[in-house]
Amino acid sequence: MPAQEPWTIQRVLDWTRGYLERKGDEHPRLSTEWIISYVTGLSRVEIYTNFDRPLTPDELTRMHAAIERRASGEPLQYVTGEMAFRHIVLTCEPGVLIPRPETEVLVDCALEALDARGEEAGPAQALEIGCGTGCISLSLASERPGTHVVATDVSPTAVALCKRNRDALGLEDAVEVVECDLAEGVEAPEGGFDLLVSNPPYIPTEVLAREVPPEVVDFEPHLALDGGADGLDVFRRILAVVPGLLAPGGTMCVELYEGSLDQASDLVAEAGGWQPARIVEDLTHRPRILVAAREA
Ligand code: GLN
Repeated sequence: MPAQEPWTIQRVLDWTRGYLERKGDEHPRLSTEWIISYVTGLSRVEIYTNFDRPLTPDELTRMHAAIERRASGEPLQYVTGEMAFRHIVLTCEPGVLIPRPETEVLVDCALEALDARGEEAGPAQALEIGCGTGCISLSLASERPGTHVVATDVSPTAVALCKRNRDALGLEDAVEVVECDLAEGVEAPEGGFDLLVSNPPYIPTEVLAREVPPEVVDFEPHLALDGGADGLDVFRRILAVVPGLLAPGGTMCVELYEGSLDQASDLVAEAGGWQPARIVEDLTHRPRILVAAREA
């Protein structure tokens, strides 16, 4: 690298894109734009209207660190520490699962269940098991003001991050974050929760070992991914505790592995006390979400 030429946005863009491409990044231009945007504070459009702006020495140092992390395969959301999810932006950190587009669909299902209660039913009470960044609970609370959510996670890292995300969005009064296994120690409100929502770990162990890309397996917490032999270990445990928490007629929405949905609906039918489960597809048309209501 000739040192005399200034590192302008354009030069950094060109160099980084080529470097990340050589390192095997599948979307080198996109990664580069995200990183420059994170380091300089410019929007991705502003990058293209500020081509001649030189980076400051501090920006160059941070750029270098971010490029190396990305080049080693670390997900962009961890490198830049940020992720847009539906209408909110969340801080992301290693140790906590990065929100996925399919979970935006899970939120749609949960909102539909809340809306179906009708306005006369008053503010809804929701429970989320395994909140991670808080993407689900914080979306519910921000998109349906008045909703009260209890969000749990067994990981202290996730609980701390979820609280920070909540506070940054000013949702302290709407979302209570609890560190516990599933819903241990959580007291249901009078009459029970109206909604139970969860994106539990659900990738079958073998699939996680053989099919999931290194960008996920090497960097994201297995605690949030590994669903045991058939992917349904945590779902079975959830199914066992929900009846004690959910109101009659209340709804459960759970994101699951595409190959597990039929088996999961069978488990719900066998458990008894549920109306027939519905399976909802994700944006790639794979079965992804199980929606079931308690008998009234
Ligand atoms: N949807 C995630 C993935 O494909 C899995 C999330 C989970 O196990 N809850 O990586």
